[in-house]
Amino acid sequence: MRNQLTINGVDLCAHFGGMINAMEIYFVIRGIKPATRVFISDLEKTGVLSKIDDRIRCVVADFVCQFETEKSKNGYSNKFRSHQIRDGDIPEGYTCPIYISLNEDMANEAKRADGENSAYLGLLFGYPECCIDFYRRNSPKLSKTSNDFVLESLSGNDYLSSASFMMNYAVRYYDYSLLSHFSCSLHCHDSLAIAKERYKMIRNEYPGFAKEMCYRLSSMVLYSEKHGIFYTPEYEIMDNNIAAVKYRGFIGVEGAFLKKLRNCNELRVERNDHLVLLSDGTALPDVDAVMCYS
Ligand SMILES: [Zn+2]
Repeated sequence: MRNQLTINGVDLCAHFGGMINAMEIYFVIRGIKPATRVFISDLEKTGVLSKIDDRIRCVVADFVCQFETEKSKNGYSNKFRSHQIRDGDIPEGYTCPIYISLNEDMANEAKRADGENSAYLGLLFGYPECCIDFYRRNSPKLSKTSNDFVLESLSGNDYLSSASFMMNYAVRYYDYSLLSHFSCSLHCHDSLAIAKERYKMIRNEYPGFAKEMCYRLSSMVLYSEKHGIFYTPEYEIMDNNIAAVKYRGFIGVEGAFLKKLRNCNELRVERNDHLVLLSDGTALPDVDAVMCYS
């Protein structure tokens, strides 16, 4: 699947660190995203962009980033520390943001706005205004913790929630997502419109890629700040309240939590106590949300 997002012989996933980054560049080239930012570990990779499409304009940041790693979230992190670049080389363990657009001014604007004006940067990246507001409202609080806005986007009744697979931003920890921003809610109209447009585009041009993306995103996700993010595409809701679910094989970071999940094939969600009860009678505490995407 990773090899399928190829333009002019260049495998975008292999060159730009995964599927989400590859799609970002692809959506800019196809004109449905004004600009994007991608983190790369080797500046020579920018050379390949003109081979992909000679209209691409790319501007390199003046700083490098060191991402914090969160083991329970598959090593992925929303937080990084930045340092100014001295000699243009990226030190081991660091990445450098590059700003990509078909419009050179926009790429430069994105570079200028990064770290200075998140509202403007969000607009340049094509994010909906409601989601930009949501991000700015919650950023002071969440940047002090995991900088993850998914739980914040759930309303009080959403501990157990269902939404379109296109809105699944929880499994981006495993490099699957159609969105590249935190939507203000699971049902944000503008975010869903963006995700739909993107899905339609990849389905037309890269059907195998789209099929795999749809399969992975149509999953049940157990979201726990304490234990990590676990998901399974193979699940079946047994009643209308989606309180009892049959499933097979969860995917997640190895450990006691995952082992318990894999030892069973049915769970029940105790909404009020934020508990997941497994069919062998054991309980999984500290689950912050259960999301069923289809
Ligand atoms: Zn929104």
